[in-house]
Amino acid sequence: MPVQSICCIGAGYVGGPTCAVIAAKCPHITVTVTDSNAARIEQWNSDILPIYEPGLEELVKRCRGVNLFFSTDVKGAVKKADLIFISVNTPTKVKGAAGEVGLAPDLQYVELAARTIAREAKEGLTLVVEKSTVPVRAAATISEMLASANRPGVSFQVLSNPEFLSEGTAIKNLLHPDRVLIGGENQQAISDLADIYAAWVPRERILETSTWSSELSKLVANALLAQRISSINAASELCEMTGANVSEVAKAVGMDSRIGPKFLNPSIGFGGSCFHKDIMSLVYLCKHYHLPENAEYWQDIINMNTHQRVRFCRKIVSSLFNTVSHKKIAVFGFAFKKDTGDTRESSSIVVADYLIGEGAEVFIYDPKVPDRQILTDLKLPQITKEISPGVITPEGIVDKSVHICRDPYDAARGAHAVVVCTEWDEFTTLDYQVIYDSMQKPAFLFDGRMILNHDTLMKIGFRVHCIGKSLNH
Ligand code: NAD
Repeated sequence: MPVQSICCIGAGYVGGPTCAVIAAKCPHITVTVTDSNAARIEQWNSDILPIYEPGLEELVKRCRGVNLFFSTDVKGAVKKADLIFISVNTPTKVKGAAGEVGLAPDLQYVELAARTIAREAKEGLTLVVEKSTVPVRAAATISEMLASANRPGVSFQVLSNPEFLSEGTAIKNLLHPDRVLIGGENQQAISDLADIYAAWVPRERILETSTWSSELSKLVANALLAQRISSINAASELCEMTGANVSEVAKAVGMDSRIGPKFLNPSIGFGGSCFHKDIMSLVYLCKHYHLPENAEYWQDIINMNTHQRVRFCRKIVSSLFNTVSHKKIAVFGFAFKKDTGDTRESSSIVVADYLIGEGAEVFIYDPKVPDRQILTDLKLPQITKEISPGVITPEGIVDKSVHICRDPYDAARGAHAVVVCTEWDEFTTLDYQVIYDSMQKPAFLFDGRMILNHDTLMKIGFRVHCIGKSLNH
């Protein structure tokens, strides 16, 4: 039977954009996005959405109140749904139990969602779709939970439908996906879900596999993407040692059609909520199945990322005459990548923490990350009027070592160094002569994203340091 009513549990970076696109492309389907976080739902129903994604606001404003709804009433939406997406967070456990093989994915939110569905689903058949990234065979666990309610006349089919969108380009990715992956064992259920996507995705891009292949594909895809970043970053250090230029190496390597040019940008390392945790999930899976060599292989991707971040931080300190104590450092960008306000696992947090730990005062500017998020990430008190005198100013100073700035020129004024941590386009069009003139001398610039014109900066007078290329000063 064609799906007429969809419920999504989890109104986050995946649930919100995915449902906005489905609502826009399938006007005959009612889509209700639910979340237990009332503040988040309030924002989805307001003018300022809880997440920033290019194109999202326009879609939400077009469909909201027509066939797209945001609600905290999870049970109510589940009761009415023919199809339910589970799109909740699946973090890594904070602590492994004694004797455990590593840090497992934490499925508590998936379990909670599954139990709600088991209790509340309508009579007849409901499709339950794993949108969250889960370990292999999670669908079996979800099926067991759904069956445990033992309600006569109520039945379920569980499908795996992992999401491959990238933050910052989510709407574009959802509208024009490389592929939509559906894993399942029941052909009718697979077809019912495929029919929804077929409203805008060409059929040949809708790939059907077994449930376990689908679940594992998501983990492997993220691990391979992260591996490319770690590989080019590993090459970048070698370039610095040997006099090679990593941008030239990446171009030469990427022109090989077997390799391709994407995801070969040298940087201070990958961030985001997915790569790290999905690789940890893969590592855990390998250890669980007694495959230590495989576990080590995937783990090394993370180890290289950590190394790249730390060596970048060390380079900042050593270049600034081995101390940043009481020095002012401007951090350009706090989001884990451009075009998102998401800071989860952002390299900027690592850089800011490191510099603060070394005694520096950091001046942070990001066009989309809210102040309170920066403070939370740096484990600093929130801005309140009650904070002791001198610790807060109208610019948002909340701690003597951290200042949140309204524009990059403010952040750089009087600074000893500018550190580019996020590849926001606006950082490429700033007037660096003005920035240079306002800074302490010698003025240092660290390009952690390789987005600036280093020759021009050096002509202005900056001492430039970047990744994978030695610059003569
Ligand atoms: P998120 O943290 O932004 O959103 C998850 C939401 O689920 C939260 O708002 C939370 O309050 C809500 N939630 C949790 N348990 C709930 C429950 N029982 N009832 C109602 N609401 C509940 O997470 P996200 O970034 O949207 O990711 C969701 C899943 O998708 C994760 O498994 C992630 O790995 C995967 N994924 C994320 C991305 C990405 O780029 N963010 C891409 C692909 C896949």
